[in-house]
Amino acid sequence: MGSQLFILGAEVRQLEEEIGRTLGAGFAVSCASGSDALLLAMMALGIGPGDEVITTPFTFFATAGSIARLGAKPIFVDIDPETYNIDPTQIEAAVTSETKAILPVHIFGLSADLEPILRLAESKGLEVIEDAAQAIGARYNNQCVGTFGKFGCFSFFPSKNLGGAGDGGLVTTEDPALAEKLRVLRVHGSKKKYYHEILGINSRLDALQAAILRVKLVHLADWTKGRQLRADRYRALLDQAGLNGHIAPPPQPAPHMAHVYNQFVIRSRERDALRDFLRQRGIPTEIYYPICLHLQPAFAYLGCQPGQLPNAELASQEVLALPVYPELKDSQQESVVHAIADFYARKN
Ligand SMILES: *Cc1c(COP(=O)(O)O)cnc(C)c1O
Repeated sequence: MGSQLFILGAEVRQLEEEIGRTLGAGFAVSCASGSDALLLAMMALGIGPGDEVITTPFTFFATAGSIARLGAKPIFVDIDPETYNIDPTQIEAAVTSETKAILPVHIFGLSADLEPILRLAESKGLEVIEDAAQAIGARYNNQCVGTFGKFGCFSFFPSKNLGGAGDGGLVTTEDPALAEKLRVLRVHGSKKKYYHEILGINSRLDALQAAILRVKLVHLADWTKGRQLRADRYRALLDQAGLNGHIAPPPQPAPHMAHVYNQFVIRSRERDALRDFLRQRGIPTEIYYPICLHLQPAFAYLGCQPGQLPNAELASQEVLALPVYPELKDSQQESVVHAIADFYARKN
């Protein structure tokens, strides 16, 4: 790296161009994290105090945290219990005269049901911002998620399907003026150095991350295929082991959706005991997410009550993410399923 431009610069521009091309997005503007991608997208739309943004309670905190950081109010709508994504049939009832945008999340790497969301948004004059942090390369009607709404927000946090060696994020849009606004917002609202036209933030991707991500991007399609193969194999193994009465694997995605399996999430009524048992066998699992956002202490001021969003609340008690990544071995997958089978054999 002969260049002294360690922040933004040519590597970053090349990464933005390559990701834009990969996703089929008109413009791609990188930033410091997925959380900032959400923040910048909403700042570009002028979302702030007095505004409401409709989203899901079953997601990482950043989705709703970024709404609240701007002084706007997150409005939570329950999820579909099968896909864990926001239930589009329940959104309309949450729209008020203050609603500015709908923020669906493509949770675990599966597209939200976008068509009814986009239709409702259009009929009500609302913007759609997609949280695609877990879903780079996932498709809906054979088009990459993140390119349907006004903005698509991505994260390069190491645990995501395209992860850097640290934080990073990116926003996609089809609108050249909004892309330019994002570029200005990420450097404290300045087009010309030390002249600040609007209020922005410091949120840039550094060249080192961009260089790493460019190398990894070349492999993303293969890694995604690897995750999909692992997911199919889990389904087959769980089925063969006769476990489908005890645990529910994620359903096959609808034919017009391609799932990229950032997580492979099963459901079990004995989730916590199962997790302890797997931990004793040396099998790491994770719970995404143990507490719904509407019940988080940080959102207590919204006045939401337990029982208000029953599908999301039940999911938070039953979900368990099994290890899934392209390098996972057949034998490791078999051990995971054998261990689950042992757990249920001992219980009976
Ligand atoms: C990871 C994630 C984010 C935030 O991304 P960071 O890069 O960690 O800031 C936002 N939304 C969802 C759904 C995520 O999974």
